[in-house]
Amino acid sequence: MPNNEYPQPLSGMVVPRFGEVATFMRLPIERDPARLDIALVGVPFDGGTTNRPGARHGPREIRTMSCFMRRVHHVSKVAPYELCRVGDHGDCSVNPIDLHDSLTRIEEFFARLHRAGAAPLTAGGDHLITLPILRAIARERPVGLIHFDAHSDTSDSYFGGEKYTHGTPFRRAIEEGLIRPGKFLQVGLRGQLYAEDDFDFAHKHKVKMITAEEFHAKGMPIFLRQLRAFRNQPVYITLDIDCVDPAYAPGTGTPQVGGFTSIQILNLVRALKGLNIVGCDLVEVSPPFDNGEITSLLAANLLYELLCIL
Ligand code: MN
Ligand code: MN
Repeated sequence: MPNNEYPQPLSGMVVPRFGEVATFMRLPIERDPARLDIALVGVPFDGGTTNRPGARHGPREIRTMSCFMRRVHHVSKVAPYELCRVGDHGDCSVNPIDLHDSLTRIEEFFARLHRAGAAPLTAGGDHLITLPILRAIARERPVGLIHFDAHSDTSDSYFGGEKYTHGTPFRRAIEEGLIRPGKFLQVGLRGQLYAEDDFDFAHKHKVKMITAEEFHAKGMPIFLRQLRAFRNQPVYITLDIDCVDPAYAPGTGTPQVGGFTSIQILNLVRALKGLNIVGCDLVEVSPPFDNGEITSLLAANLLYELLCIL
């Protein structure tokens, strides 16, 4: 008889029922990273947020809405729970009143996963969390980075010298040598700039960009062309939910109009299949700004899409 209600449990694990404690995709909780190929993780931290906060509540709401996910991907027919060991590894412990302590804790948490050989699939949290994740998994072996976002997140500092915010993680990651030179693609950029030279650093470091306007004009072919440069090497995927238009994803701190529709971002993620992906995150879901859980529902689906290509 087909199990049409629950993902396949790991042996000896109890799978929560719908409406009981919400785990990612109703998967079993598994605290031992050695027993996982893919670890679903929450990082409930928004201390790097420069404007509207609330992303610390993202993991909880995405877990809740991910209860709607089923076993088999309807387009690719991938059944992720049969291909590898997947579990909810719980939330990373953070310190909401100490940003630098939180960065240390996040890095240590992901380093433990990395040493155990479990690929992280993370729900944030604001976008600063990607920096300590990259420190944990890319310090010895830099990765290619594919970054979906309305914003470049390569500013130098905010508020007169603050170097660690959700608008600076990829400047720091480039400075720290965590990203392979010339292997950084940003997709979905739009919105007003602070100044004409906002992207000078990114251009100097050969960051490739596909703006939202370019994507709307030319469609998937320009994205597929850029993906060729990422074959046969480790690639990390980071997806800021604000790459999606606020009409489809209002629950985020820094919304920008003119973004992707739901089906466009689903197709963009599906196009990543076949790359050597070493981890993914989905950040900036801020439930206090959401309406009817539509952002969390999209985020849960995107997490499932990422799971099917990881
Ligand atoms: Mn971002
Ligand atoms: Mn953004």
